[in-house]
Amino acid sequence: MIDLHVHTNFSDGEADYKTIIDLAIKKGITLIAITDHYDPFDIHLKNRDTTEEQLAQHFRNIKSYSSDKNIKVLCGIETCTDTYGKLRISESVKSMCELIITSPHYVEFNGELKIGDYYNDDYWEAYKRKVLNMALGEGDILGHCETYLPSKMMEMPGESTFAVVRKSRQSS
Ligand SMILES: [Zn+2]
Ligand SMILES: [Zn+2]
Repeated sequence: MIDLHVHTNFSDGEADYKTIIDLAIKKGITLIAITDHYDPFDIHLKNRDTTEEQLAQHFRNIKSYSSDKNIKVLCGIETCTDTYGKLRISESVKSMCELIITSPHYVEFNGELKIGDYYNDDYWEAYKRKVLNMALGEGDILGHCETYLPSKMMEMPGESTFAVVRKSRQSS
């Protein structure tokens, strides 16, 4: 088994990279890609201030910990593109990543969104357009493209994206 989309506590995951690598080995996984969030343009991202040097150090730590272990570990990121599917990261970050997952974490949308109103037709159209551009655009894998993801602007205070996705599915 392989897992090409793993977060550590470097971004919004719960465990550190050592725990995750050890657990993957224990479960018999032969290849994982550690793809923490990295996106200086995502205003909602907890670790948006991560520097390129911190990312490089994170990758070095992962490589040195996993090099003599019975598992292949790729170092990559999960990030969002611009509206045309172009990556918004520097050439140096691109070159240090072995895998880049592009996920629609935000959508360029100028229309009005209401808090607590999780579905909006115009937003959904903009969302679909962007996901199609991302599918044809840069990066290696398109992440969680299978579903409508409400905008953060629709969330009630204190709500998580997961809670909102669950609610929007129940109401549709
Ligand atoms: Zn993710
Ligand atoms: Zn994601």
